Amino acid sequence: MKVLVVGANGQVGKHLVKMIQDQDDLEAVAMIRKEEQASYFHDLGAETAIVDLEDDTETIAKAYEGVDAVVFTAGSGPNTGPDKTVLIDLDGAVKTIEAAKQSGVKRYIMISSFDTTREAIQEAPSSFSPYVVAKHYADDWLRRTDLDYTIIHPGMLTNDEGTGQVEAAETVDRGEIAREDVAGVILATLVNNSTVGKEFQVVGGSKAIEDAIANLS
Ligand code: NAP
Repeated sequence: MKVLVVGANGQVGKHLVKMIQDQDDLEAVAMIRKEEQASYFHDLGAETAIVDLEDDTETIAKAYEGVDAVVFTAGSGPNTGPDKTVLIDLDGAVKTIEAAKQSGVKRYIMISSFDTTREAIQEAPSSFSPYVVAKHYADDWLRRTDLDYTIIHPGMLTNDEGTGQVEAAETVDRGEIAREDVAGVILATLVNNSTVGKEFQVVGGSKAIEDAIANLS
């Protein structure tokens, strides 16, 4: 299975591409936005596609050729304003969903935020609410498609070493999760078709990632 990783040069993205390349039956296409980012991925044996999420859907869709699944793990990050939150976390995500529809790529995994409900928008501090709004509507756009989607809602991300153990369910108590473990959760989701049509929250915990994902209701 060939997996297009949108936001591959990000912290979760880099872990994920490496994990994909370590599997015999998976290969990654790293979607990045700068040529100088490519060598890390080429050294892993992964293909790259240079695309900016501010490009139009047709340009983004060119990266989908020969792809079987898409993972969206891009984000505008905390150092830009609400303009980039709208352009990347909302519109960028929606364009990658539309590109999947146009290209006939059915499998789509969204890395969302922990809580993207309408209540979470109302409760978020004003500096954070544009991000929650963006994630809320991107998730909603995906739910309204007929893609084989999974929406993953991780807790607060850390750069701790992964433990390989998580707690995952429709709702779990708020907590942290290592970015490396998020990548492990994405990998387990990609290879387990019972996750199609599901969404779940995930934080660090005490169950092996593969078991936690296999046991989602
Ligand atoms: P990250 O390290 O900030 O990586 C984000 C990636 O998005 C970067 O590689 C960046 O590219 C890329 N990107 C930004 N603008 C782009 C554009 N215009 N075109 C193409 N790519 C663009 O993110 P992370 O920490 O790995 O987080 C992964 C995901 O988890 C994100 O979707 C985030 O919203 C979500 N999340 C975060 C938290 C948290 O606690 N931080 C919690 C839950 C979910 P460059 O490398 O070129 O800058």
